[in-house]
Amino acid sequence: MSEINEDSVRAEVRAWLAANWNPELGLVEWRNILADSGWGVPHWPSRWYGRDLPVGLVPVVEEEFKSVGAIGVAKVGIRTLAAATILAHGTDMHKEKFLRRILTGEDIWCQLFSEPGSGSDVAGAVTRAEFRGNQWVVNGQKVWTTSAHKAHWGLLLARTDWDLVKHKGLSYFIIDMKQPGVTVQPLRQMNGYASFNQVFMTDAKVEPEFLVADVGQGWAVTTTTLMHERRGADGLRTWAIASDKPGRAYDEEREEIRTTMEPYKWYPQRAGRVDLIMPRAKVTGGINDPVIRQEIAKVLIMSKAAEWTARRSRTAQEQGKPQGPEGSLGKLASSHIARAAARVHTQLSGANALLTAEDSPMGGVIAEILVSVPATSIAGGTDEIQRNIISERVLRMPKEPREDTDRPFRDVPRNLVS
Ligand SMILES: Cc1cc2nc3c(=O)[nH]c(=O)nc-3n(C[C@H](O)[C@H](O)[C@H](O)COP(=O)(O)OP(=O)(O)OC[C@H]3O[C@@H](n4cnc5c(N)ncnc54)[C@H](O)[C@@H]3O)c2cc1C
Repeated sequence: MSEINEDSVRAEVRAWLAANWNPELGLVEWRNILADSGWGVPHWPSRWYGRDLPVGLVPVVEEEFKSVGAIGVAKVGIRTLAAATILAHGTDMHKEKFLRRILTGEDIWCQLFSEPGSGSDVAGAVTRAEFRGNQWVVNGQKVWTTSAHKAHWGLLLARTDWDLVKHKGLSYFIIDMKQPGVTVQPLRQMNGYASFNQVFMTDAKVEPEFLVADVGQGWAVTTTTLMHERRGADGLRTWAIASDKPGRAYDEEREEIRTTMEPYKWYPQRAGRVDLIMPRAKVTGGINDPVIRQEIAKVLIMSKAAEWTARRSRTAQEQGKPQGPEGSLGKLASSHIARAAARVHTQLSGANALLTAEDSPMGGVIAEILVSVPATSIAGGTDEIQRNIISERVLRMPKEPREDTDRPFRDVPRNLVS
């Protein structure tokens, strides 16, 4: 077998794109071709739409796509977490049924973890799933559920055994969001978007084959989803912006961003828009102010350092090491960077940073940054929780004393009556 390296991969993907990329194809049609070829997710197993390439060579493939303007598989949103979780814990049936439609963008996913009484303490979930007759019946409430109003499928954490200790009584399901037992109510955020929701499940049904891993293994599966989410927090800064090129595939991608991807429109702002700092510094003249220059330098250094840390983590994965708690380092770094970037944007725009009309700084984008950045320190686990994980699982410091893991969950004192 010939050696796989950067040059060989570049030559192969370049030739493949020259022979296959056609912007006049339908978006789903093109993404199906990508799934069949393995070039859409080349680091995935070749049995499941990939090419078994080392993760470190994925940027080479992405560069080639970018240079010809070829559209990739659908990569944004909870669907990426669904895919990672299904690849790690799903059955062949799950992979068969869900992975292709995740890549083509035909199915939208949401993550039903947080509840009114358990966000940071997500293992305290009290949504219950009971096996009745020949299926699971789910009752409970979730909250902060991004994209639930658009989703076809949900990643659901629910309690299946109240007599076991907290983390052992949880199971993980894939739930059909378009059924009568599921009610979704959007919540409006301070940045004007309504991208997350509260979700009520009343005798909602889950077929037995849509349990992921065994009954009682829900916490292990949830940890996989969360570790991928935290690692992905770093990627929010490199959001794909719709191309303005002509062609059916581009038209359909623009429509996808306008409609199904609408809940994620503000995500680049949430990450602080480090990319806008230098252009804004030049336009506003802030670049000539030595104090602001110092602040700009700090943000750019932090951002570069975080990028290299993320690359180190990629390399570890490439060497076959599983996704570990180091994702929390990246998540915490993203939070610091977003806040520092928002501060610099304020210095550059002054009081006008608060304005939102069309003639305001960047047509309101700067104001959107200021009110979106706080989400980075909450979503996917707060900064405090990341610090706990880093201290306990990376630095191996002593664990916080706990009184909720030594008794059946039904005896653990908690806020909500269940
Ligand atoms: C933009 C956005 C999108 C989201 N999308 C989803 C989604 O799709 N699906 C989903 O399930 N959830 C989602 N969430 C919810 C998110 O995971 C929770 O908000 C987060 O885990 C915090 O939980 P909480 O809001 O209940 O806060 P709480 O857990 O009540 O925390 C309140 C405060 O107490 C601190 N705190 C709590 N416990 C500790 C501790 N042990 N040590 C130190 N400090 C502590 C926290 O850091 C925080 O400052 C989203 C959140 C945001 C902002």
